[in-house]
Amino acid sequence: MILAGLAAGQALAAAAASAQTLDEIAKAMGADKVETIQYLGTGSFYAVGQSYRPGVPWPRFNLVKASRHFDYAKGAYVGDITLTQAENPPRGGGTQPVIGEQRRMAGVAGERAWMLAGAFTLAAPAQIAPLQHDLWTSPHGLIKAAIADKVQPVKAPGGSTLTLARAGKWKAKATLDAQHRVVKVESWIDIPVLGDMAVVTTYGGYRSVDSVPVPGTIVQTAGGHKVLDMKIAEVKINAGSPAVPTAINPPAGEVKTDKAADGVFFIHGATHHSVAIEMKDHIILVEGPLGDARELAAIAAAKQAIPGKPIKYVINTHHHFDHSGGLRAFVAEGAAIVTHAINVDYFRAAYAAPRTLNPDAAAKSGKKPVFLGVGAKHVLGDGQRRVEIHQLAGNSHNDGLLVVLLPKEKVLIVADAFSPREPITKRPDALNPFTTNLWANIQQKKLAVETIVPIHGRMVKVNELMLAAGAAPTN
Ligand SMILES: [Zn+2]
Repeated sequence: MILAGLAAGQALAAAAASAQTLDEIAKAMGADKVETIQYLGTGSFYAVGQSYRPGVPWPRFNLVKASRHFDYAKGAYVGDITLTQAENPPRGGGTQPVIGEQRRMAGVAGERAWMLAGAFTLAAPAQIAPLQHDLWTSPHGLIKAAIADKVQPVKAPGGSTLTLARAGKWKAKATLDAQHRVVKVESWIDIPVLGDMAVVTTYGGYRSVDSVPVPGTIVQTAGGHKVLDMKIAEVKINAGSPAVPTAINPPAGEVKTDKAADGVFFIHGATHHSVAIEMKDHIILVEGPLGDARELAAIAAAKQAIPGKPIKYVINTHHHFDHSGGLRAFVAEGAAIVTHAINVDYFRAAYAAPRTLNPDAAAKSGKKPVFLGVGAKHVLGDGQRRVEIHQLAGNSHNDGLLVVLLPKEKVLIVADAFSPREPITKRPDALNPFTTNLWANIQQKKLAVETIVPIHGRMVKVNELMLAAGAAPTN
């Protein structure tokens, strides 16, 4: 009887909740009328995972032009932004310093995602989930997704809520006000470092455009800090689809291996590289970038170059997410993570956070991470090879930025302070402060360096670094 009573109560509650039907909500929001919508505006953009040190806000950039363009029928979204440098002096990552204006574009159409990288359009599979999240948590996209999923609104103080999920990608709970407008979306997206990362999107300042309610502001936080603060100047409804590229360069999922010195292998990928160092009875890998897919390939490449030895250490140059997203693959591998001491508590907390959306190799392995926190200098050696880890003192790219020196081979492994892509033949017009700091540290610490093995770009001789740092005369 009690059970039957409960069931009847639930049925009543459901009836009360659906008094406000999804149809009514869709009509009020004009979701049925919106096929494509483009928000244009200005504001601030913040680079997630690129803070100066762990736990502080993401670095800010000025958003001089921003477009968020959605096509709901095609499942397409293109974000197109133009940035200028905001932090002065540059502090943190996100490809600072931005000189002049810089355009960044990323898009998704169905299960294809791409991004603009200079003149190239590169496949960006890691962006599929975050971009689909932005598409289907935009005000009208959310209502359309709720209709497709047959989600029933639940009454809440001052309005209602809608709950949505996409297996393996994201989940969201939206709050609608009394006029059925989407005012807040609390969501979670899977990202390698943080696991289920909390995102909060607030849509404010609603007004009517072509009789459709549209927000006047979008404020978004991710991982506890602001990522977007956009004031919308113009909204175009049903005025055309975002451009979807026909040709996208395939993702460079695999890595290639080149010898940098005896027993030292440069494992390079499309955007981020690693270095495998052969020790007497183990392997040291420098850098675990991006995420599992890239890192499992790098681990396999290291073991192929150096057969029969386990990976004992992975050295992390700094905590920026593009450089640390693959570290968890080494937890599954049973290797210790060597990182600056300022990162250890941050990684420990992040690794203990829930990973329900898309459990990675480490989560599946059930293994506990092992960290070795280092300071200004730390040496790993086996009597045959000496591996020196040095902190770049005063480098404003990251407070705990480490470089790795092989003194015998005169090889220096460097992330982000110097990323030689095009050949450097002369002193640049504007010196990069991260690069001048690297050169000052090399001088100050009297590091004997002939070859630079960068985490981004080409392996080069030290002369190119000297030119880039303004420390060598132009030929
Ligand atoms: Zn960085």
